Order: sequence, then C-alpha cells, then structure tokens
Amino acid sequence: MSGWVMVAGLGPGDDALVTPQVMEALAEATDVVGYIPYVARVKPRQGLTLHPSDNRVELDRAGLALKMAAEGKRVVIVSSGDPGVFAMASALFEAVEANPAASDTDIRILPGITAMLAAAARAGAPLGHDFCAINLSDNLKPFTEVERRLRHAAQGGFAMAFYNPRSASRPYQFSRVLEILREECEPERLILFARAVSTPEERIHTVSLAEAQPEMADMRTVVIVGNELTRRVGKWVYTPRSVPA
Ligand code: SAH
Repeated sequence: MSGWVMVAGLGPGDDALVTPQVMEALAEATDVVGYIPYVARVKPRQGLTLHPSDNRVELDRAGLALKMAAEGKRVVIVSSGDPGVFAMASALFEAVEANPAASDTDIRILPGITAMLAAAARAGAPLGHDFCAINLSDNLKPFTEVERRLRHAAQGGFAMAFYNPRSASRPYQFSRVLEILREECEPERLILFARAVSTPEERIHTVSLAEAQPEMADMRTVVIVGNELTRRVGKWVYTPRSVPA
C-alpha cells in the first residue's frame, strides 16, 4: 500500500468538534506525529504508533512524517484547531520545499475548527464583519513586525483575534500590545479573553479596553478585540454586518 501524509486539525478541545473526516484519517493511520499535548488527544489502538514530540521541532516532525510516508506508512500530523492556522500545515510545506524528493508525497490537509471561531461562537458574533488574525509570538518573526501589523489592523478598523498572546518567556509583550491598542482605539472598545474554549476549564470574559489587564491572557487564551461597532446585546457580544457610510 502506498503511504500518505494528512495534516489534521483536532479542533479546540471538545471531541464533538473533531470533524468526521479527521476521525476517519486517524482510523486509517499507521502513525501519528505531533506536539505532545495534541498527540495525547488521539486514542491509542493496536497498529497505531504515536510519535509525540516537543514544541519548536516542527520541521523535524514534518521530515519524520515525509520519511515514514516514503516507507509506505499512513501518517497523520495532528495540530490543535485548524492545521493551517499558525500550525503544522505550513511547516510540512517548508519541509517539502527543502526536500524536492518529497514533492510527490500524497499530502492532504484536513481542516479543523480554529480557536478564534470556537471562541467567537461562544461569545456571540464578535467576528461578524471584517477581521484579521495575528500571532503575537515572536518565535518566528520580530516583535517590531507584530507591533506594525497590530497598529495597521487597528487603524484599518478590523476586529482582531490574537493567538499565542502571552507566555512565561515573554510576559511583557502583551502589555505592549494593550498599550498600542490604547493609542489606537477608544477606551470602551470590547475585548474578549477566551481561555481553553470547549474544554472543562473554559473561561470567557469580556471587558472594555480600559479594564483589560495583561494577566487576563495566557498561552491557552485566544483574545478577540472587537471593532468600533462591536457591542453587547444581553449576555452576547456581536459585531453588526454593516458599517455606516
Ligand atoms: N492551530 C491552532 C492554533 C495554534 S497556536 C488553531 O487553529 O486554533 C496556539 C494558540 O491557539 C494558543 O496560544 C491560543 O491562543 C490558541 N488556542 C488554541 N486552542 C485554544 C482553546 N481551546 N481556547 C482558546 N485558545 C486556544
């Protein structure tokens, strides 16, 4: 049998949010590779070898998947959320680009529900008009670039979703992000902190920009900043579909 690689999104946490297509790929796989906590979400079974690996070794992981596929294995690379959003799908193509022999590999990307959409659905419809997603981590880009994009997005009137907002190794940067938002947006602007969405630890709260504190975010939080028109209706937060002329 010929091998393949599928890059699958496991969704934000709840098993009910894993697509049937991803379940099917996992049922056919001989090998699963991925970051330790994501591989831990895959049920072990006979005939399936799990290859958990540490953070920041995405290219090695992609290389291993391509090598196993060339040997005839059926490999699923797991990501949380969607594999194309700050995750393994791009890492796999970087590995293919670096190794032309791998370009014939049978590759499929299986989408998943990304954190910002799961969070938005819980809160109401904060991403109901134009929005953008920004990865606040400076592992793979300089923080000056994060600051530049953030400022432009705020000036452009976009609602924004922030991934990787704050970690122990870079606690100051999210304070800087709030500072820039305060320069560009009004104090009443709504900000949603959505932590561990769709898991038993889920916690979602909405505050104004004036009330927002850096400690409200950690690495399990996706932050959604509304646009100028984003507002509360009852217990919900939503962004209307139209912008006045
Ligand atoms: N591919 C993933 C994102 C990986 S980056 C996706 O599409 O969702 C990791 C970041 O995603 C975390 O720092 C956090 O900002 C966000 N995230 C992932 N799962 C989450 C969840 N269940 N609740 C809130 N944020 C989450």
